[in-house]
Amino acid sequence: MTARRLLPRWTLPATLLVLLGVAAWINLPLPGVTGRVTRAVATLPASPPFRPGQRVLLLTPHPDDETLCCAGTILQARSAGAEVFVVWVTAGDGFEFDAALTGRTLRPRGGALRALGELRAGEARRAAQVLGVPASHLTFLGYPDGGLFRLFTVNFTSPYTSPRTGMSRVYLTGAQSPGAPFTGEALERDLRRIVQRVQPDVVLAPAPQDFHADHHTLSVIALRLMAGRGEERRLRYWVVHGGLEWPLPKGLHAALPLALPPRASRLPWQRVPLSLEDRRVKLRAINTYRSQVDVLGRFMRAFVRSNELLSPEPLPVGRPTTP
Ligand SMILES: [Zn+2]
Repeated sequence: MTARRLLPRWTLPATLLVLLGVAAWINLPLPGVTGRVTRAVATLPASPPFRPGQRVLLLTPHPDDETLCCAGTILQARSAGAEVFVVWVTAGDGFEFDAALTGRTLRPRGGALRALGELRAGEARRAAQVLGVPASHLTFLGYPDGGLFRLFTVNFTSPYTSPRTGMSRVYLTGAQSPGAPFTGEALERDLRRIVQRVQPDVVLAPAPQDFHADHHTLSVIALRLMAGRGEERRLRYWVVHGGLEWPLPKGLHAALPLALPPRASRLPWQRVPLSLEDRRVKLRAINTYRSQVDVLGRFMRAFVRSNELLSPEPLPVGRPTTP
């Protein structure tokens, strides 16, 4: 008996129908959903405008996060006369699939991943230039991509060796502390120095609900650091990995609003409306990440929307969480 006879006749058409439905859900604006999202986003309060002379510090785990979450926010801060500073905690040197493509090798080794880190740091500098952030306001720390959770737990004082790059110390060209060990202690010291130097009025950091471990770990680090200064009210939180294929639909849909991320839908979100020009510049900044766009282009362009989202709180407010 063949496998074909084991399956009922309707299996193939039904499977194709389900696949088509999933493809439509991922890629197309679905009228009912779009209307509901537009109404939900329109009711959000606007994020407070930036003021001249304010100092805005954006903490970002990987090259491209700053643009995906906050390109429009950066542009608006700058045009209001605020100064923007960006810190990349890692150079994104853990993305093996990307290193395989950029290095044209099936099994990228440490050298290919270190080269990817240098490449992505260069792309980040160009993206910041597109967004008008001066080179003197950019800081690269060069800690290991995919390793921040380990740094803040088992490797707080004993160095972590990245299984991707094979490194246990900062190697990135132009990093703030070359040769610093991959420990939570060293990373926290670096970030504390930056906060002392910049004296930020506003700090943009990942939300703890962000799915990626580097992101939610950086959220905790930022909150701990700012709370230690009695300045946790200066934090504003953003999400890039929001769960369930968010943001939908994938691809460039610049006229659509950015919906609330499912994993963090109960945060008290505020809306940052983006002008058409903001959206054009955001797309240009995304496109500077050539190494990423080749792999994740449809995900990245889905962040070019009529708004960005910031939350003044790291947790939902008003309702107790049940265990
Ligand atoms: Zn990231």
